[in-house]
Amino acid sequence: MTDRLSQAREDLVSANRILANEGILDAFGHVSVRHPEDPNLFLLSRARSPEVIEDSDLLEHGLDGEPTVSGGPLPYLERFIHAAVYEARPEVVAVCHSHTPSILPFSVSLTTPLRAIVHSARFLGGEVPVWDIASEFGHKTNMLVINQDLGRSLNRAMGNGPIALMRGHGCVVASNDLQALVSNCISMDRNAKVQLAATALGDYTPIHTDEYSPVHDAALTERPWDAPRGDNRAWEYFRRRAGVS
Ligand SMILES: [Zn+2]
Repeated sequence: MTDRLSQAREDLVSANRILANEGILDAFGHVSVRHPEDPNLFLLSRARSPEVIEDSDLLEHGLDGEPTVSGGPLPYLERFIHAAVYEARPEVVAVCHSHTPSILPFSVSLTTPLRAIVHSARFLGGEVPVWDIASEFGHKTNMLVINQDLGRSLNRAMGNGPIALMRGHGCVVASNDLQALVSNCISMDRNAKVQLAATALGDYTPIHTDEYSPVHDAALTERPWDAPRGDNRAWEYFRRRAGVS
């Protein structure tokens, strides 16, 4: 196994533990990373809760959403969320699907979009799109993304952006970097809580376009795998809090 692959696997285990510890993922939801040696594959755990995932749980999946080894451990039902994004967008390196409670009100509100209002969540941009599964597939679904057609529909709702909410369900977040994805998911949760609190106070001032655009746009700018990584104190902090040694 190459150093890049072993590092990606270690970081993916950490990402699962961190996102569970921070309340972004619970028993459900999942996070993945594109395979560093083969862009036509991505790494995602078998169907297991993020808090307890270990390296041995990680499965290679193709861009059709299927594990490369058939007959193995049970994969996640909603693995197609990840597959469709990786299939359509070569710049995406990491994807998270969560049911984070704080963002759910914005997934069903007919008047108030989730938007960047705190500086650490500028990647959200001005108005986070909402994907309604019923718009294309009607109401006779179980609301889960259980095939590639559903995944592609959800990916289209993201446009070229880093996030879409899923009506009454959760969200999908994409990034060109796994560690950045983890920070963005945690910031998304904080932003949603602050936005709800600010709404209760009345009118509020959102982040200006010129303030969020550089960060929003950079969330999906292709980043070379070997680009030097700065000192990521957030990653160290979150790892320590999650008990990841
Ligand atoms: Zn889900």
